[in-house]
Amino acid sequence: MDVFGLLGNPVGHSLSPPMHEAAYDQLGLDARYVTFEPEPANLEAAIDGADALGITGLNVTIPFKQDVLDCVEADELAARIGAVNTIDFTGSGAPTGHNTDAVGAMRALRDHDVTLEGADAVVVGAGGAGRAIAFGLADAGATVEIANRTEATAHDLAEDVPGATGHGLEADTLADLLEDGDILVNATSVGMESDETPVPADALHGELAVMDAVYQPLETRLLRDAAEVGATTVDGAWMLLYQGVEAFELWTGEVPPVETMNEALRSQL
Ligand code: NAP
Repeated sequence: MDVFGLLGNPVGHSLSPPMHEAAYDQLGLDARYVTFEPEPANLEAAIDGADALGITGLNVTIPFKQDVLDCVEADELAARIGAVNTIDFTGSGAPTGHNTDAVGAMRALRDHDVTLEGADAVVVGAGGAGRAIAFGLADAGATVEIANRTEATAHDLAEDVPGATGHGLEADTLADLLEDGDILVNATSVGMESDETPVPADALHGELAVMDAVYQPLETRLLRDAAEVGATTVDGAWMLLYQGVEAFELWTGEVPPVETMNEALRSQL
């Protein structure tokens, strides 16, 4: 049996096990997906142990996405982003580290007919998700503006992302950036299990595609406001789905049953 899992702390309410196990059932794979919650001081021992036990693949979430870089051979994209969310143990050498959040977020946008090449994109937030999304957008040919509450973090990230510019999160700054914008992504935790939004409703317009990385609730206040002005909306479950789909494909080499994974994920939300 192949064992996959999620490494995080806490991981109690993760939606990944049912999403991946639905795919194993659909394809008749003898596999399980389980959650692991090591103490942060034991991260390296946990990864060495997983390797020794023959675990096939691990996803990685808060608070380990950055620290795990020291324990694996990161691919070029994960190294640039500075975060790993997928570890592959199937090679003959050291475990390899990948970042499927970036590609997953871009697939979520493309899936909703959003054109990335040549787009003017505003990413709100410069933490782990913001970093992955900003690199994903720049790699896809978009011009990226990064707005963050702690403005210095936005400038730091903008220095790493080709062609990007950093900003603060003031309402007038957002209004200026979005006036001619094509894409807006919320990569802050604002709106998670609350009815708050990081972007004032009057800065939104109908030509925008708005994606929220937050998926609890599925329809955040930002997405409600965006829908009201006629913008295209993409909820955070799409990014969660496609980062999982990309990890599944990397580990198994099988064509992922995307519909099945999507249904299993959404039935939990
Ligand atoms: P993180 O590294 O802790 O970054 C948090 C970000 O949110 C930072 O930019 C932070 O700004 C900002 N922020 C926090 N509270 C704020 C507030 N009150 N006002 C304005 N900005 C605030 O977290 P993360 O891993 O990037 O995750 C961010 C969100 O994305 C979470 O809700 C997470 O669940 C979601 N996410 C979703 C997916 C998916 O697949 N859909 C994947 C990854 C993450 P400062 O720098 O100023 O602190």
